[in-house]
Amino acid sequence: MKIPKRFNVFGKKITVKVGNLGANYDGMFYTLKDLIVIDKSVAKERLDHVIIHEFLHSVIARCSLEAVVSYPAEEVLVDMITKALLENFKIDNIK
Ligand SMILES: [Zn+2]
Repeated sequence: MKIPKRFNVFGKKITVKVGNLGANYDGMFYTLKDLIVIDKSVAKERLDHVIIHEFLHSVIARCSLEAVVSYPAEEVLVDMITKALLENFKIDNIK
């Protein structure tokens, strides 16, 4: 998938940038900045996973689910939904 410039999450614009997050992170969603950063070193075959994973973090934040879902649970939730989506859908057409 091509890295989108932005997502629309229930009317809120989420900007997507490529940056340098260091060795520990492939992607990051910054709630207060409405910003997703994808690390420039992410391998092409992992890119879909990372983009969808961070997108789902933004959906959770937009729904204020951070208040009721712990961070470790959110990580598992977001990762499993990403895997299930990629197992079953071809997601390559960014709007
Ligand atoms: Zn995550």
